[in-house]
Amino acid sequence: MRKKIAAGNWKMHLTSDQAQALVSEVVNMYHNEYHGDAEVIFAPSYPFLSQIHHLVKDVDKVHLSAQNLHEAEQGAYTGEVSASQLTSVGVTHVIIGHSERRQYQQESNALLASKIDIALAHGLTPIYCIGETLEQREAGNTLDVIRTQMTDGCFHLDAEAFGKLIIAYEPVWAIGTGVTASPDQAQEVHAFIRQLIRDKYGAQVADDCSILYGGSVKPSNAAELFAMADIDGGLVGGAALKSRDFTDIIKAL
Ligand code: PEP
Repeated sequence: MRKKIAAGNWKMHLTSDQAQALVSEVVNMYHNEYHGDAEVIFAPSYPFLSQIHHLVKDVDKVHLSAQNLHEAEQGAYTGEVSASQLTSVGVTHVIIGHSERRQYQQESNALLASKIDIALAHGLTPIYCIGETLEQREAGNTLDVIRTQMTDGCFHLDAEAFGKLIIAYEPVWAIGTGVTASPDQAQEVHAFIRQLIRDKYGAQVADDCSILYGGSVKPSNAAELFAMADIDGGLVGGAALKSRDFTDIIKAL
């Protein structure tokens, strides 16, 4: 079944104390102020996963995500983190293919496909990120880029495995820039993604898939984005670092 989701990607921000305080505040506000059925996902940096797990493990509809994982089971990969290491500290979700990793670590669609495979093999829910750069949009290539990222990154899965994914559409030009895609711009691409899924796996899988929007989501624009037919929530960067803002985004769901 399609879920409404607000996921906070903290990137390389916050110290241990700040991370602890942020989660405690959001969970408190979520309980006191929100009575819907949207799910919340926190994606802190690796050192805080275990600590945050203890804060959220008994909280209904609140989940813990890593921001990345390595595609191998284990081995001599200094500085990397494996799927089984993540699950061993209570992680349930993992962001795969964030544009910052595609850009700075040159992560290709083929590599991301193998990261999705290892995540699923360990029972982790991948949050697979796709999105076009400004140059690609201005050249009129947005939908071709999206099609390729879907085809090469996750369409090797069978329908049952694909059904476990969350997709996040994040136009690169809107991430961390303060510039948000308009609701119509975002909806156009979300509808296209859902049509690609329908063509590949059928109507049921497409209808059940949660497709999040990411790119300068804030309390002031969340409601109009989330009102669009094919936008099922947000992957939030900057605004997820402020408990009041992130809670208001959850409430917009
Ligand atoms: C992100 O990091 O995925 C993101 C969308 O960041 P921001 O909300 O800051 O644009």
